[in-house]
Amino acid sequence: MIPIKSERDLRMLKRSGRILAAVMREVEKMVKPGITTLDIDRFSEELILKENALPAFKGYKGFPATACVSVNEEVVHGIPSPRVILEGDIVSIDLGVNLEGYFSDMAVTLPAGRVDERKKKLIEVTKRSLELGIKQAAAGNYLGDISCAIQSFVEAQGFSVVRNFVGHGIGVALHEEPEVPNFGPAHLGPLLKNGMVLAIEPMVNTGSWECRIDRNGWTALTRDGLASAHFEHTVAVTNKGPVILTE
Ligand code: MG
Repeated sequence: MIPIKSERDLRMLKRSGRILAAVMREVEKMVKPGITTLDIDRFSEELILKENALPAFKGYKGFPATACVSVNEEVVHGIPSPRVILEGDIVSIDLGVNLEGYFSDMAVTLPAGRVDERKKKLIEVTKRSLELGIKQAAAGNYLGDISCAIQSFVEAQGFSVVRNFVGHGIGVALHEEPEVPNFGPAHLGPLLKNGMVLAIEPMVNTGSWECRIDRNGWTALTRDGLASAHFEHTVAVTNKGPVILTE
């Protein structure tokens, strides 16, 4: 069953999402060559705690950090470390906030300094694919309409969408039903209804969509070693269309 949120739930999720968006705005500013992925993690945690909220990922299934920071060929679930970010890297930051039991989830990919044209295009295409997916998150559409909008745009631009990881429902838990794939046909899957809340999160690879898991047991990497990007918003499905909660 896909949970339908009450008005109060939606108000709380909006508060949670606003905190997350504000934290992300601050964290984005620090991404430049010379900082470490651990710097991003520490600063994110400090800002979330200052808002009297909790980092949603820390401890989730044993994940050791507040932020997932995934660099270049890392797709998702990068573990913050003393790794120094270099000029030309692209850095995906994924953060989750738990405000009094209400969860929000968001990710962005940023260039560190000057990056090559292919990476620049990868970031733009991934961001745009999220926008196109969100547009479909309207009551009366099917879940597959989101998936298809993302996949068809990404593939038309010459990139590929990751199959191993998908978006998800979100609310009083970080992961709720349904799964929200970034691939698949339109007009299929569950009917979207007023009050559903979805974390839509395209992960887009430069080359093949295939991934492998790092020896750390967490981090997904592209199998071909080419760069990957990731954008995510938490979105409420309403009768008046999609409402982005994380902005
Ligand atoms: Mg997510």
